[in-house]
Amino acid sequence: MGKLVALCDGHGANTAGKRSPDGMRENEFNKAVMNHLKVELERHGLDTLLVAPTDADTSLSTRTNLANAKNADIYVSIHANANNGQWGSWGGIETYHYPNSKTGKKLADVIHNEVIKGSPLKNRGVKSANFHVLRETKMPAILLELGFMDSRFDINYLKSDAYRQECAIEIAKGICKYFGITYKEKQAPQPTSNKYYRIQIGAFSNSSNAKQYQEELLEKYNLKTIIKYYSNYHRVQIGAYSSKSNAIRYQEELLKKYNLKTIIKYY
Ligand SMILES: [Zn+2]
Repeated sequence: MGKLVALCDGHGANTAGKRSPDGMRENEFNKAVMNHLKVELERHGLDTLLVAPTDADTSLSTRTNLANAKNADIYVSIHANANNGQWGSWGGIETYHYPNSKTGKKLADVIHNEVIKGSPLKNRGVKSANFHVLRETKMPAILLELGFMDSRFDINYLKSDAYRQECAIEIAKGICKYFGITYKEKQAPQPTSNKYYRIQIGAFSNSSNAKQYQEELLEKYNLKTIIKYYSNYHRVQIGAYSSKSNAIRYQEELLKKYNLKTIIKYY
């Protein structure tokens, strides 16, 4: 049987309060992290349960009752923090477990350590609290506060999708560790070829001849060229083009406009 991870996005989309001084809703952040996290976990063969899948203001007991009824193995609640609702210089990440819960603390420690690794936000540590979602869940449960909505510093991260994704990846790494699953990095995008199409207008064995021709092209046609030396020739070229058709189009233009006969090089 696969493990079931209950995912909680904290509050409803329209829950009163729960927004930054400039109006970002906490749920927007929580939900974005949760959705990225869901994908990450499922990529590792874990099952997920969204305890509040709609935008409605789902009560905390509805959330924990569902996780209990489905026998979730762990419960992860995602939040953004607030101090007093006014912009300030505070900030940072903290992770909560239920007081004296050994498994809760173990889960909090392993996830918190991943989340703060390399994070630009302050590490406020692992803490315990008598929160509903920690108390009323039968399984190990944690509540993450991934930054302060009323922090002038944190808010820039909370609003960025890169940070939201990074949080999800790090939480997933922690969950994988907790279950003894090897985290697989996402496939890096295929490296783009660093070869380009270049239009060669002339090739000279003598470098001063190449330079002279370069100046002539600039004076006569206002053509900016570069000189590349390889295989015994100083080559006067235009480019680079990543697309061959663009290079050909420009080559035709040079012929039509200036009667310049050129060849295309690819390297
Ligand atoms: Zn919250």
